[in-house]
Amino acid sequence: MISQKLQDAINGQITKEIWSANLYLSMAFYFDKEGFNGFANWMKKQSQEEMDHAYTMANYIIKRGGTARVGQIDAVPESWNSPLEVFEKVYEHECTVSKSIDDLVDIASAERDKATQDFLWSFVREQVEEEATASGIVDRIRKMGDSAIFNLDQQYGSRQ
Ligand code: MG
Repeated sequence: MISQKLQDAINGQITKEIWSANLYLSMAFYFDKEGFNGFANWMKKQSQEEMDHAYTMANYIIKRGGTARVGQIDAVPESWNSPLEVFEKVYEHECTVSKSIDDLVDIASAERDKATQDFLWSFVREQVEEEATASGIVDRIRKMGDSAIFNLDQQYGSRQ
């Protein structure tokens, strides 16, 4: 059985994951409008991944005898000035998510809940990838400049 405190904390993270999914969907809509269909595709996949994180966390809470909840989801931003700015925001956002997951590990540790610590490590590892991916895209856009952005857009169109 999972403690109420830990359950509440993971439920808070579920709300954040859904907010992240909405953020990336909003970015996808922005890219579609601007004609960057590849980046839009990338963002839609990213959005789905965030929803998957929410489902995984909800299933975990339920398996441990708790109750999964969907909290209030705040509105997400809907406009940016350039693809570079969007991916800079993605990187910043992923860093805040990493911090949030780290905080959950600290709570699980304080609650002496080993199973939840084990469950959370996969998210800690996932965040290493998320930060690296986002900062890699930011670097590439900065180095390549506007002339190559359409190549990059085409490349990201094939993300599954
Ligand atoms: Mg996530």
